[in-house]
Amino acid sequence: MFEKDFLPERSGIFVGPKCCRTELLFSRPYEQPRNKERAPVFCLRSVQTIRRKLADASQAQKKEGDTHAMTNTVIATVEHTGRDRAIVMGGSIAGLAAARVLSDHFREVVLVERDQFGAVGEHRRGVPQGRHTHGLLAGGLRALEGFFPGLFEEARRAGGLEVNLTRDAYWCYEGGEYRRFASDLEGLLLSRPLLEGIIIRERVRRVPNVHVWDGCHVEGLISSSDNRRVTGIKIYGEKAARTVQANLVIDATGRGSNSPIWLEAMGYRKPKEDRIAVNTAYVTRHFLRTADDLNGASLASIPATPKNKHGGIILAQEGNRWVVTLSARSGERVPTDLRQFIEFARTLSAPYVYNVICRAQAIGEPQAARFPASVRRRYEHMSRFPEGFLVLGDAICSFNPVYGQGMTVAALGAVELDKVLRERPRNLAQKFFARAAKIVDAPWSMAAGNDLRMPDVPGKRTVVSRFLHWYLAKLNMAARCDMNAVIAFQKAQNLLAPPQSLLKPSLMARVLSAAISLRSIPRTSAKSAQQTA
Ligand SMILES: Cc1cc2nc3c(=O)[nH]c(=O)nc-3n(C[C@H](O)[C@H](O)[C@H](O)COP(=O)(O)OP(=O)(O)OC[C@H]3O[C@@H](n4cnc5c(N)ncnc54)[C@H](O)[C@@H]3O)c2cc1C
Repeated sequence: MFEKDFLPERSGIFVGPKCCRTELLFSRPYEQPRNKERAPVFCLRSVQTIRRKLADASQAQKKEGDTHAMTNTVIATVEHTGRDRAIVMGGSIAGLAAARVLSDHFREVVLVERDQFGAVGEHRRGVPQGRHTHGLLAGGLRALEGFFPGLFEEARRAGGLEVNLTRDAYWCYEGGEYRRFASDLEGLLLSRPLLEGIIIRERVRRVPNVHVWDGCHVEGLISSSDNRRVTGIKIYGEKAARTVQANLVIDATGRGSNSPIWLEAMGYRKPKEDRIAVNTAYVTRHFLRTADDLNGASLASIPATPKNKHGGIILAQEGNRWVVTLSARSGERVPTDLRQFIEFARTLSAPYVYNVICRAQAIGEPQAARFPASVRRRYEHMSRFPEGFLVLGDAICSFNPVYGQGMTVAALGAVELDKVLRERPRNLAQKFFARAAKIVDAPWSMAAGNDLRMPDVPGKRTVVSRFLHWYLAKLNMAARCDMNAVIAFQKAQNLLAPPQSLLKPSLMARVLSAAISLRSIPRTSAKSAQQTA
């Protein structure tokens, strides 16, 4: 794949426009397996020097009886085809998806991860959030399946559960629940370590030109003397510290990314940050699952509402388990003690979680954590940015986990990375960050929009946002009976359609008329749900 993308059809000299530095690369013929041996690379200063080196190389190859002599020789500018090695910092969802994409564009990809990867399905230190509920949205599933065909099947074989998102789930908003029916919106339920393990172990490691270096800590970037280009990274591994050169470095180190600090040290401004202080505490516990729990459904989501600061989600997982996360806003805490945890579930605005966990057997230890704020770093607004460097995933934007968007946005960001690399623009960073911002815009506006409905979450409310909050509440009401409203909402929530699709006049008309006629329909009562669950 690399050779086909990278090499011109015919042999000869190719000097890109405005080349200030040229690279001479003796490549392998197309048929040869990639990356068996790296091609020699010379950095040259002028076309004359290139010609001289070509002549020397040709003589040398002839002497050695190399029959391919010169047929695949390429001279390219670093700017346009300097794709010898890419480095990805961080081996979680964003890093793995990026490594897969880069493997199509670079001769060699090095994925550097601080943790040692253990067995498939094991938790690891660098992803503490992996111990909490993780749902993969349909948009993310489709994107990952695009990178790793057959992933869905593989995950199912490993114990992941296929779920019809509108039939097998209870979506409870504003105290009522969405109408349930079969649709083509399919999801996959499996624990975060299993998902990541399958992608790393089974897929990324199998890509021949990707090298996975786990147990290596990235300590910083290295750059050209004028700091205009990132040229590699400094790592600290098991044995020693060293530097590794690359044509492109991608930061996928998550929310705690050091890029703003590193950029500042290189003489750039830090990216501006948008923050929404949701100040949420959450606790996760696991329970054994039986087939008739939750009426045979596989998930129930009961988010907090403007009136009720408590939220909860229960998801079926591999190994006949339920994973349950309960959360509380604005500084309230969630108890870790089992009895109190179950009692807390009773305070949610629908009873589905409580009804399961009050009977199920708890397993393992509780995990508690806090999420202070959603953070979006506005790299797309930076007027200066070094070449050879990009940022992806949570390192750009980490969302309130309640909406389950992070992995999907990371995967969709990698899709944009692929598109931008194919276009080979001169200003890669500018182009990529503009595209990545578009990907983030939709989930950010949905999450921020809903968070700002909560009276205790600080932030500016405009007339438009107040109208949207009101409309969203009516949409939630309409979705109790209207299948079109359910599908429209689920498509937007699963990042399969833009949030603006919720404002189509035809849908708005349905929402308003349904909301009017539904005023009299009772909300889910604990009693009625207890009878069904
Ligand atoms: C409680 C909680 C629940 C969530 N639930 C969901 C959900 O249901 N659905 C969903 O889609 N998303 C969810 N998310 C978000 C999701 O976890 C992230 O969006 C997702 O992991 C993608 O992140 P990432 O790959 O960008 O970074 P991370 O997953 O944070 O990974 C960063 C990686 O970089 C490595 N690293 C860090 N520093 C260095 C260094 N210096 N050198 C080398 N390696 C380094 C780390 O070890 C780690 O492996 C949740 C988040 C939280 C906090």
